Amino acid sequence: MSQTQPHFLVFTFPAQGHINPAFQFTKRLIQLGVKVTFATTISAYNKITKSGQVPDSFNFSVFSDGFDDGYKPMVDDTTTYLTQLRHRGTQSLKQTILSNAEHRTPVTCLVYTLLLPWAANVARDLHVPSALLWIQPASVLRVYYYYFSEFNNLFRDECNDPSWSIELPGLPLLKTRDLPSFCQPSNTHDFALPLFKEQLELLVLEENATILVNSFDALEEEALKEIDGKLEMVAVGPLIPSAFLDGKDPSDKCFGGDLFERTKEYIEWMNTKDEGSIVYVSFGSILMLSTKQKEAMERGLLASGRPFLWVVRDTDGGVKDVKDKEELSCMTELEQLGLIVPWCSQLEVLSHPSLGCFVTHCGWNSTLESIACGVPVVAFPHWTDQSTNAKLLEDVWGTGKRVTANEDGVVEGEEIRRCIEMVMGGDEGGVTMRKNAKKWRDLAREVMKEGGSSYMNLKAFVESKLESVI
Ligand code: UDP
Repeated sequence: MSQTQPHFLVFTFPAQGHINPAFQFTKRLIQLGVKVTFATTISAYNKITKSGQVPDSFNFSVFSDGFDDGYKPMVDDTTTYLTQLRHRGTQSLKQTILSNAEHRTPVTCLVYTLLLPWAANVARDLHVPSALLWIQPASVLRVYYYYFSEFNNLFRDECNDPSWSIELPGLPLLKTRDLPSFCQPSNTHDFALPLFKEQLELLVLEENATILVNSFDALEEEALKEIDGKLEMVAVGPLIPSAFLDGKDPSDKCFGGDLFERTKEYIEWMNTKDEGSIVYVSFGSILMLSTKQKEAMERGLLASGRPFLWVVRDTDGGVKDVKDKEELSCMTELEQLGLIVPWCSQLEVLSHPSLGCFVTHCGWNSTLESIACGVPVVAFPHWTDQSTNAKLLEDVWGTGKRVTANEDGVVEGEEIRRCIEMVMGGDEGGVTMRKNAKKWRDLAREVMKEGGSSYMNLKAFVESKLESVI
């Protein structure tokens, strides 16, 4: 007989790309009858709740990262921020777990997202089972694993040579530009690799560590296999709202945790356009394009002559008021052809019949959303896992065309136009990409249905945690 109700604590890094899948994961747990507490920072909580989209069933636990009025993580000194987050987050996580135990609602499993390996230490010290919710593809986790293994030397040899490539188990042949940016010789972000190393070491040391991956079996069949008998991954994605996937809950139409405010008029505008005619351009929640890159994007979109919806955020994550839109030089011409918005419901846009192509930075959420909505992409990666995701989209799943930058690292307008035409035009390549996109969409829709692979994996995970409280 059950002595205590299962209670999951979902702990997330305060960035949009973490909050969205963690929110959706929480909704799925609640549907399976589990009590869940969602933990994040005060600033993220304030923005999320301001959006008015949070489901009533959500319980929150919040803590201060020292930036309660804003959101600094990717803006200033990331290493300092992450150290502060570790310090404050550790204290708060301990308190949350202890106080739940005192109030007879003990946490029976902690689920945490990327960049928070210390959360696993807290769980271990307090004898609470934990699981990592890996919000990038299994393929990228594999690259990091091999990067810190005996394959490490292979990554260094000749890596600067354009003809260099590396063959790793369960992965396609990767060139330097396909590796996560942190593993490339040009990497300038020191904060990431130590965290990934720490995370992987913890998982390898822990017996039967659970790694839940926001992916699905058919999409990453090889990459999801056990690694070296040391790491086991379980696919529970795509973690996107039901209305865009299995349709089980048609009211589940948004992630519910937007950190940015959106406008409304774009759907009416999209309704006036022909089927498959619009180019949607978005670079996620963190990236800001350089002025040169923005100008090239303007030229590319104008030259393509197709209607476009371009997300140009007003802020870089909530702190600086960047007024990006004001910097656009061809505003009048742009507004004749397209619409520029500060934020939108990306899933509504991707699933709109008038959409033809997604020019994306290939963040993992955007990548999975393009797959789940059957939209072909122009892959325009910048950093972190985006380059590997672009490789998968172009060469493994066959749903996209990747841009090539010039010597200064800028993707020129003509290249942007060319890639959009390749994806949307009548050539065989474009037809195949669109066909592949529909094939993956259909597969993605199956996995979250009752009996589908991700549904079953999630159910089995929850049941395994129920057993531990019986
Ligand atoms: N997104 C959105 N509206 C926008 C732009 C982005 O809802 O105008 C969402 C998008 O659907 C995705 C998330 O923000 O779920 C961005 O995550 P991703 O991993 O693609 O990129 P990141 O922001 O982490 O770079």
